[in-house]
Amino acid sequence: MNTGCIFCRIISGEIQSEILYQDEDVIALRDINPVAPTHLLIMPRAHITSPAEVGADQKWLLGHLIHVAGELAKREGIAESGYRLVINSGPDSGQEIPHLHLHLLGGRALRRMG
Ligand code: AMP
Ligand code: ZN
Repeated sequence: MNTGCIFCRIISGEIQSEILYQDEDVIALRDINPVAPTHLLIMPRAHITSPAEVGADQKWLLGHLIHVAGELAKREGIAESGYRLVINSGPDSGQEIPHLHLHLLGGRALRRMG
């Protein structure tokens, strides 16, 4: 728990949010400022800032985040139409909240990257 982190404050229940999935290690919520019809955020409960901060003993967590994202894509009805998973990390990526999270984006055709 990092008291200065908005996601930690959502995870602790201090700030209200629409939680779509949760288990012991991971939670998922709807992005407050969606850029696609489906825009979810999947994150570890633990305050980890980026993939580079994930310890070797926590590698399973990355697989778990992607697995939950896949299940939520099915639940949102976009598994067939398609979706994109994005992790921003650091200033060049535009990361706003330094608590590792996966964006699940879909529900419309997404522009190709680059
Ligand atoms: P990033 O730029 O990758 O750090 O993404 C942060 C995301 O968190 C943005 O898409 C924001 O719209 C979203 N966000 C910020 N505050 C909240 C909140 N209270 N509840 C849900 N999503 C949020
Ligand atoms: Zn945090």
